[in-house]
Amino acid sequence: MRDETKVVVAGRDPAKQYGAVNPPVVHASTIIHPTLDALDAANAARARDEQAVVYGRSGTPTSFAFENAVAALEGGHRTYAVPSGLAAVTVAMLAFLKTGDHVLMVDTVYGPTRKLCDGFLKKMGIETTYYLPEIGSDIAALMKPNTKVVYVEAPGSLTFEMQDIPAIAAAAHEKGATVIMDNTWASPLYFRPFTKGVDVSVQAATKYIVGHSDAMLGTVTATKEAWPKVRDCARELGYGVGPDDLYLGQRGFRTLAVRLPQHWKTGVELATWLKARPEVIGVMHPALPDDPGHAIWKRDFLGASGLFAIELEATPRPALAAMLDNLHHFGMGFSWGGFESLIVWQHPEVYRTARPWDAKRILLRIHAGLENIEDLKADLEAGFERRKKAMAAGKAAAD
Ligand SMILES: *Cc1c(COP(=O)(O)O)cnc(C)c1O
Repeated sequence: MRDETKVVVAGRDPAKQYGAVNPPVVHASTIIHPTLDALDAANAARARDEQAVVYGRSGTPTSFAFENAVAALEGGHRTYAVPSGLAAVTVAMLAFLKTGDHVLMVDTVYGPTRKLCDGFLKKMGIETTYYLPEIGSDIAALMKPNTKVVYVEAPGSLTFEMQDIPAIAAAAHEKGATVIMDNTWASPLYFRPFTKGVDVSVQAATKYIVGHSDAMLGTVTATKEAWPKVRDCARELGYGVGPDDLYLGQRGFRTLAVRLPQHWKTGVELATWLKARPEVIGVMHPALPDDPGHAIWKRDFLGASGLFAIELEATPRPALAAMLDNLHHFGMGFSWGGFESLIVWQHPEVYRTARPWDAKRILLRIHAGLENIEDLKADLEAGFERRKKAMAAGKAAAD
């Protein structure tokens, strides 16, 4: 079955749901079992890791349908749905770590994941070393006897560096470590982590899977070997997702294969157009041919999403505000992956340690939405014009 078809059929079984095309939204805590035997049978099925409906928190037809769809597309054994992307990161890490262990974490990881390492994990006595994204097989030199997790995210958050995941995974497995990946940027559609050596893949389903900026959701997908630890950790921590959010997740999922190509196309066109602007010093987008990560992106990925960054020429804050405050189509806000375009001033200097980021550099992260490209360009063009005017006015005042 090809990807577009999988996106439509995975996790659905109309015959089991009165013919309805979509899975039912089951609001449930208590599940009533008609007999003692039936209750024991349901519990035993759950213990055998079957998708048995025993109690609301441990899974419903709504959660199983969503989880099965994600697992099928991403290519893992099973998926656990949790209430946010960060919860998915937390489950994946805690499933494989205990006091005294060591984590190798990419320096360009999503900021809150770093806070988890430097906060909660540190408090538990788990040590983290940050490595540069381009490390490749040289990561072998950083492996310690107690390195239990090697964590990758490609491209990197905010600055979009690629990673040689097969090389890193090979070095990690050599020493018996588990490879966890944050695969949110590519979505399950454009990167297949389990064919590249990843053991556990995390999605902030909040982004492209939900796809409409209206729900928080995360998934942890694992190989058959890694699955029991992931499942037990999520269960022990008590994670479960409300059925309405799961429904929005599966609903967004069905159109992934038509939305993503458009985000990709608009993102590349916008990035290319921005690169030619005099105000833009650099563009960070692995699908652009001269990007340092392009060769790896081309080798390992099946497509690109709509998220990338630009570095702007030195711009005093009032001029930056003049540019950003009055945009019509680019919203200023966190998250991404919805149908709408976004632009946010980002500050990697807050996070980076292996390679510090100069706080004077102005990084704008852009999400290319599903609007017409010409409207997006015109909106940015007007923004650049306001910036220019504000800079001239600032200079005149200073003179
Ligand atoms: C947004 C994001 C997350 C966290 O997802 P939430 O649903 O906001 O908790 C994790 N990883 C990446 C790469 C993200 O962009």
